[in-house]
Amino acid sequence: MNFLKFKNKKLFYENIAISKLANKIKTPFYLYSLGQLKFNFNNFKKVFKKISPIICFSVKSNSNLKLISELKKLGSGADVVSIGELKIALKAGISPKKIVFSGVGKTEEEIDFAIKKKILLINAESEAEIININRIAKKNNKVVPVGIRINPNISGKTNKKISTGNKDNKFGVSMNTCLQIFNNQYDYEFIKFEAISVHIGSQIMEVNPFKKVLNALSEFNKKINQIGINLKYIDLGGGTGIPYSDDEKNFNLEKYSDLVFNFKKINNVEIIFEPGRSICGNTGILVSKVIYLKDTLKKKFVIIDAAMNDLIRPALYGAKHQIHPLLKNNSNINKYTEFVGPVCESSDTFISYNKYQKLNEGDYVCINNIGAYGRSLASNYNTRPYCAEILINKNKYKVIRPRQKLESLIN
Ligand SMILES: *Cc1c(COP(=O)(O)O)cnc(C)c1O
Repeated sequence: MNFLKFKNKKLFYENIAISKLANKIKTPFYLYSLGQLKFNFNNFKKVFKKISPIICFSVKSNSNLKLISELKKLGSGADVVSIGELKIALKAGISPKKIVFSGVGKTEEEIDFAIKKKILLINAESEAEIININRIAKKNNKVVPVGIRINPNISGKTNKKISTGNKDNKFGVSMNTCLQIFNNQYDYEFIKFEAISVHIGSQIMEVNPFKKVLNALSEFNKKINQIGINLKYIDLGGGTGIPYSDDEKNFNLEKYSDLVFNFKKINNVEIIFEPGRSICGNTGILVSKVIYLKDTLKKKFVIIDAAMNDLIRPALYGAKHQIHPLLKNNSNINKYTEFVGPVCESSDTFISYNKYQKLNEGDYVCINNIGAYGRSLASNYNTRPYCAEILINKNKYKVIRPRQKLESLIN
């Protein structure tokens, strides 16, 4: 179900014509749909119901406090990768017993805080980190539940820059190293090894890489059962992708669910998921105004007021986010049209089309599917403030984070 729709040539999000908002609110701004967010989370929950997993929303994909509070109400936990994200999750009211903490470089301060808050799992990514957790746990006089992130050396068949499960990536430890750590478990008096975790990358569109991961983990679990390790949880990470254009299909969540159902039966563990993009990716758009049109011999540049600092995925990963006009007209310009931002970098370009409708200066457009890794990856490059974030709920809207004051950057 998609909450972004044209009705009589006007683009609507839920029951609001976006052009109405664009006339009132300073562009660019991020616009989210609460209906879409709820639909996505509930759908994820429904598809995996037979597994009753702990669903820990990946806060790095979208760390807006209001959105995370909404997800909390639907039953979500949180996957965090910094003390900042951990504090956001707690502030959103998420129980520490539903929070997992991943990341290769957790500092003493972060580990200490996580221990004091008694979170569900610290997912450790190296032996050095485990030694450190043990030491900090001892200082706190607490036995701490820890998961070990495994790097299964399986490719997610996704963009190299968002692939994390190959042996030359910095993430996790090899199965051999993990086995060694489990063999030496009694060296770590203040750690309870309760889980293994994996996360092989993001925007994965095929089930097959996940199938490979499940098979490898089942094998591994058999091995560690033999040395007396009986895991309470297996954390399968996130990574399920979303379509960014009309000709892409949805990820087959149902098929994945069937595989995990079997996996859970065989391994007799509780399942944790850490979805980010699949929950929030299509819940937001970036509304922007055309500043100038610039005709060159070969191209028509449409210069809009949103830029790579507001949405860096195209520049960083070559991601293709579709751009819609907020008002359709039936014209068609047969000229290569490229949408670019005002930032002084050649990579500040969004997408191009062989033909596009006629646009005028002052017209509004929106960049689609920016709910994940949009605002959370934004920067102040070119001394551009963070845009406002607006949430639509049916026929109402609300500012859920105001536009950053330009003055706060001039200091
Ligand atoms: C980024 C990340 C996720 C979320 O990935 P998505 O592709 O957005 O689902 C989950 N787990 C870990 C450890 C991550 O780093």
